[in-house]
Amino acid sequence: MDYDSIECVSTSDGLGNEEIPHHHHHFTSSKTHNVNVIPSKIHPTSVHELLECPVCTNSMYPPIHQCHNGHTLCSTCKTRVENRCPTCRQELGDIRCLALEKVAESLEFPCKYFPLGCPEIFPYYSKLKHELICNFRPYTCPYAGSECSVVGDIPFLVTHLRDDHKVDMHSGCTFNHRYVKSNPREVENATWMLTVFNCFGQYFCLHFEAFQLSMAPVYMAFVRFMGDEEDARNYSYSLEVGGNGRKLIWEGTPRSIRDGHRKVRDSHDGLIIQRNMALFFSGGERKELKLRVTGRIWKEPPNPPDAAGGPCVPNLYT
Ligand SMILES: [Zn+2]
Ligand SMILES: [Zn+2]
Ligand SMILES: [Zn+2]
Ligand SMILES: [Zn+2]
Repeated sequence: MDYDSIECVSTSDGLGNEEIPHHHHHFTSSKTHNVNVIPSKIHPTSVHELLECPVCTNSMYPPIHQCHNGHTLCSTCKTRVENRCPTCRQELGDIRCLALEKVAESLEFPCKYFPLGCPEIFPYYSKLKHELICNFRPYTCPYAGSECSVVGDIPFLVTHLRDDHKVDMHSGCTFNHRYVKSNPREVENATWMLTVFNCFGQYFCLHFEAFQLSMAPVYMAFVRFMGDEEDARNYSYSLEVGGNGRKLIWEGTPRSIRDGHRKVRDSHDGLIIQRNMALFFSGGERKELKLRVTGRIWKEPPNPPDAAGGPCVPNLYT
């Protein structure tokens, strides 16, 4: 029988550690058992560390549980360990660790994005809630071509998009883009384009994607704002696509890059062009996709449309 791991005393005095641990195969006093279990951290434990679940290392929130020997664990882990303390393998029971819950309640911590500029300090239990929506939390790379896990602030991500994803960078608030695909029969989720615009001292991502919308192949263009939703609402944008004397116009508010491009796509929050219409706009014999997407970004309140000096698009009614 292995009782070696029965220990419940923290060895901050370090005295027990001076003995070389020998394996005792007979049952001896608990003091000897302590010798066999050398804690990995000998320095005094901070309160913050005490609130870390020793099993999953996440922060613990009420109800915090403990075994008969005083080992703590979080409520998520408790449901997973089948009534055995993961530390000492004893039966777990159903003991709350109220003392630790109370200690946590009395503590205040700075937001974990303090190094990124967040000045806020929170009681332990509301800190986590805030951090999920903290405006200083880093942004995820808005690149849509593949999963990219790079995070950072906007200037960092702009450099990253330009240097690592070779994304086209443009200045100005109007654009005129051509999307050409020689085989329009191929519609895959992987067909996409991203262009970054710099205007009003801000950065905007223009996405162009092809995907299946309830079995029908469509193209979609939309703009995302590189910043938070609150600031995104200060801007509007319009997109136009057309040809053969017809055009489609979309007007909207850019979505924040806090919303993933897939989320925006799935909410249809942009200019959606059915493939048949796209091929009609392309002219020719429907062999090639040639879409010209023009657009404009403006600051709210909007200027009169005529003042934009935007690209000239044939008017449907003349
Ligand atoms: Zn846990
Ligand atoms: Zn235990
Ligand atoms: Zn914060
Ligand atoms: Zn990236």
